[in-house]
Amino acid sequence: VEWCRELPKIELHAHLNGSVRDSTLLPPWDIRNDLENSSCITFRSTLKQIISTGLAMRELAKDLGEKGVIAFADVAHVIMKNGRSLPECFKLFDLYHLLTTDHQTVTRITKEVIEDFAAENVVYLELRTTPKKNEAKGMTKCSYMKAVIDGIRAVDTVDVDFVTSGTSNVNCSEATPLNCIGSPIKRKKIYVRLLLSIDRRETTAAALETVNLAMDLKNFGVVGIDLSGNPVIGEWQTFLPALKHAKELGLPITLHCGEVPNHKEIQAMLDICPQRIGHACFLVEEEWKRVKFLKIPVEICLTSNIRTGRFSSIYDHFFADLYKAKHQVALCTDDSGLFSTTLSNEFYLAASTFGLNKDEMFLLARSAIQSTFADDEVKHELTKIYDDAANRLI
Ligand code: 5GP
Repeated sequence: VEWCRELPKIELHAHLNGSVRDSTLLPPWDIRNDLENSSCITFRSTLKQIISTGLAMRELAKDLGEKGVIAFADVAHVIMKNGRSLPECFKLFDLYHLLTTDHQTVTRITKEVIEDFAAENVVYLELRTTPKKNEAKGMTKCSYMKAVIDGIRAVDTVDVDFVTSGTSNVNCSEATPLNCIGSPIKRKKIYVRLLLSIDRRETTAAALETVNLAMDLKNFGVVGIDLSGNPVIGEWQTFLPALKHAKELGLPITLHCGEVPNHKEIQAMLDICPQRIGHACFLVEEEWKRVKFLKIPVEICLTSNIRTGRFSSIYDHFFADLYKAKHQVALCTDDSGLFSTTLSNEFYLAASTFGLNKDEMFLLARSAIQSTFADDEVKHELTKIYDDAANRLI
C-alpha cells in the first residue's frame, strides 16, 4: 500500500461532494479525536468502520430531521447500511448536498478535497462537480463555481496549478504558502482541472447553462463536461442538445455510461463519441467492441462498483479484460468520501486482485496522462513527473 501511495497518480473521476472528508461531515465527536490520536491500528480501523457505515451521518440526519429539513425516517435505514445500492447512494448525496449549500462550505470542501488528493500523491486531479442554484442562499451556478475556484485558490499546504490560460493567470500557490518559506523541503504540486457535471435531473435549459458556464470558465481551469446523477432518472434526449453544444464549442465530454442496463441509451451515448466514459458496468459484448473500436478511454471505479453491487465479485470486473486488450483505462475513486477509499487504495486493489507487478502499475498510472483533458504542455509536465519517479520507484 505504501508503494501505491508513493506512486504519482492521475485522478480523472472524482465528484466533489462525494469526496468530502468524513471529519467535515461528522459532528465534533470525541470519537474523531480518538481516531486521530490512537496509535492502535485495530482500534483505528474499528472506529473508521463505524464512521464509514454512517453512524455519524445518522447523527447529522437526526439533527436535520429535528429541524424539519428532512424526514429522518426516510433516510435512517440507508445511512446505517454498509453496502449501499446505487439508488441508496443518491439518497445520501441529497443529504450531503443539504450540508454544502452555502458558498463558504463549498469553498471549504473544495480546498480539503484537493489537499486530500495531494496527500495521496495525486499529481493531476480532474475534479467534477454539478454547479448548483440555491435561491435561499443567493447561490447561482456561477457563484457556486466561484466558490469552488476560491477553494482551489485557498489551498496552501501544496502547490496548485489550476489556471489553464488567459490574462487571469493566477498561480494560487503563490498566495500564502504556509510551510514553504525558508523551508528546504520540496512542496508537493498538484495540477487541478475542473469538469462541470450536468445532473440527470436537470432540464435541457439548465444543462445548456452549465455548458455555457464551462465555456466562460475555460480560463479558470474548466476543461470539460460530465453527465452524471441517478442513471434511472432523465431522458437522453434532454441532455443531448447541451452535449452537442459542448462538442461544437470544443469542450471534451465524459459520460456516466452503462451504470444500468439501458442499451438504447448506451448506444446513443457511444454515437456521440465521448472523449471518455465512466463506470460502463452493464455494457454487452457488442458495445465493448464499439468502445474498443472507437478507442474511448474508460474511467474505472473498482470500490464504487463493488460497494454498489454492480459486480458480485471483484474478479468479475471488466478491468482485466480491458487491461489485457491494452485498452486505455484510468483507475479512479468516484466518491472517496462516500466509499471510504483513496486512489492509492484503488491501485492496491487492482494490483492485488489482478496480479499486477510494480512495473505494470507504474505504466498503468502513467498511461492515464493520455486520457486527461489537459493541454499538451501539462501532459508534457506530467510525463516529466513520471520520468523522475521511475528511477525512484521501479
Ligand atoms: P457534486 O456534483 O454534487 O459535487 O457530487 C455529487 C454528485 O455527483 C451526485 O449528486 C451525483 O449527481 C453525482 N455522482 C456521484 N457519484 C456518482 C455515481 O457513481 N454515478 C452517477 N451517475 N452519479 C454520481
